[in-house]
Amino acid sequence: MITAYIALGSNLQNPQQQLHHAIAALAALRDSQLLQVSAIYRSPAIGPGEQPHYLNAVACIQTELDPEALLDALQAQEQAQGRRRELRWGARTLDLDILLYADQVIDTPRLQVPHPAIQQRNFVLYPLADICPANFVLPDGADLDTLVSNCPVGELEKTGLQLQ
Ligand code: ATP
Ligand code: MG
Ligand code: MG
Repeated sequence: MITAYIALGSNLQNPQQQLHHAIAALAALRDSQLLQVSAIYRSPAIGPGEQPHYLNAVACIQTELDPEALLDALQAQEQAQGRRRELRWGARTLDLDILLYADQVIDTPRLQVPHPAIQQRNFVLYPLADICPANFVLPDGADLDTLVSNCPVGELEKTGLQLQ
């Protein structure tokens, strides 16, 4: 079994409900178990144009799926929840990104793991740190607490909303 961390984001069509559906899907994912889910965070959109705020969270799963099969399953769930790919970083009902897949480093045209933007994104780092073990270290040797301290909280807000 591999421990993987998944980032969830939504800024369309009732984001809170979208995240709830996505967590239910992760809980039902074949050959996998849902271990932990962060609180819900709210963050300004980083994409182009005027977009609604995002709700974000991070989940931890154990899985026997290989990384490509996991990505297939996550993309199928994005599609099932009405994701339309139009503009890069456009508003979306659901984004599911693989942040970490054990300590593996993957660099293929379809999949980069660890997700390349982890270090720059407060809406990923803060919820990730909430559910990672203490003194967590990323595959490149970076210490998660240090990454969090170096990434300003800015307009990111931790909501009182829970997904579990
Ligand atoms: P970003 O990756 O900057 O958060 P995004 O999530 O909006 O952008 P998507 O449109 O969801 O990007 O996905 C674009 C492509 O990214 C996918 O088709 C997928 O093949 C690829 N991809 C590469 N690495 C990953 C990863 N770690 N998790 C999910 N998708 C990935
Ligand atoms: Mg993304
Ligand atoms: Mg994505």
